[in-house]
Amino acid sequence: MTVFFDDNECLPVLKRERKRRDQITRMLRKGYRKSSRIKTLFDEHRIDLSEIKTLNDLQLLPVISREKLIEMEMAEPPFGGLYNADTQIDRIFISPGPVYEPHLSEDDFLWARAYHAAGIGKGDVVLNAFSYHMVAAGLTFHGGLRRVGATVIPSGTSSSEMQVQMIRDLGVTAYTGTPSFLLSIIQKAEGMGYAFKRDFKLRRACFAAEPLQPILRKKFEVEYGIDTYQMYGATEVGDIAFECRQKDGWHICEEVYVEIVDPATGKRMPHGSFGEVVVTRPNDIFFLFRFGTGDLSRIIVAPCSCGRTSYRLDGIVGRVGEAVKVRGMFIAPSQLKKISEKFNDRKLQLIVTRSGHEDRLTVKLEGESDSHDDGSLEAYFREYFKDLCAVRMDVLEFVKAGALGEKYQLIIDWRDWKEEK
Ligand SMILES: [Zn+2]
Repeated sequence: MTVFFDDNECLPVLKRERKRRDQITRMLRKGYRKSSRIKTLFDEHRIDLSEIKTLNDLQLLPVISREKLIEMEMAEPPFGGLYNADTQIDRIFISPGPVYEPHLSEDDFLWARAYHAAGIGKGDVVLNAFSYHMVAAGLTFHGGLRRVGATVIPSGTSSSEMQVQMIRDLGVTAYTGTPSFLLSIIQKAEGMGYAFKRDFKLRRACFAAEPLQPILRKKFEVEYGIDTYQMYGATEVGDIAFECRQKDGWHICEEVYVEIVDPATGKRMPHGSFGEVVVTRPNDIFFLFRFGTGDLSRIIVAPCSCGRTSYRLDGIVGRVGEAVKVRGMFIAPSQLKKISEKFNDRKLQLIVTRSGHEDRLTVKLEGESDSHDDGSLEAYFREYFKDLCAVRMDVLEFVKAGALGEKYQLIIDWRDWKEEK
């Protein structure tokens, strides 16, 4: 049975939404009075504060991208006029841009839900290999680990040899950092003559800041006996989502509100469709609303078998600029690669054209059409494609193996928007 971090994790969905609505409207009202920027932002977009009554009304407000935030901070340093001048900030983080981020509170739950869900707690000794220098990562992950009762080694970005030494000498049981750095630590250990699984106690890893490739995850779990978990967040808004032990989507944290929007309009996409992850973290200090992460995902509404009632994000499939929009739905290259992997690495290519006022989607797939066991490869492929991309294809064209060549374009967009006007 799942032991939740707190009761909020099993709140009925509607209750959670009402709570979030109250928190966000309160934050906007406060921001309107206490910050120098919120009122002007509302005025610029001709929105009256009283119009924002529901979570749906948030769509009236613009999405604030990282670029926009930098612009605002440059015009009005250090926080773009988005902060509450009546409060004292305990820390200020700096990330490239430069972007200045006020730390919100020493009492926050940042990342604690994620570590708890991964089974980290009292008795664990955790190597925190996130940087502690200037950026928020090191200290905020540190805080989350402390909150679940773990002992933290602030190893930061020290050399992999040093990390190996700490894992050995201090009996480290878990790691938090990027997957690629853990891999290089393991390789270093092997180079130093250790057998990682046999000689060390490290059995869990919580990753962030970098995608965890399925092949690497398998390597960690099977070869090295390390149970792995993904966590997702952004410097500007903190933790956003995390994996539970089911490892089937990422639970959205109880402290944030997530929307999936069309990046061109800032309007919501229907549940199940891909779009940009936009995050609001209600708080009294930094009134950054609708932060656009630039990451593409979709929301899973169905309940998770772990018992948490939060909606989940279906991983991150790519960045906004990389994706192509077909009949209002986004398809990213990483989704196509995943499909290709599922079908024995057969190459495929997406071609988008326009017929009348309709998008037309053709998929070219290398190889024979009848090589599937039950003879229904086409039906199976179409179904899988629709599941993963949330878009139905119009034509599936089988081409000879090798026909797409070595260096081919994964997505071709032939649509000419000018002609239509
Ligand atoms: Zn779950």
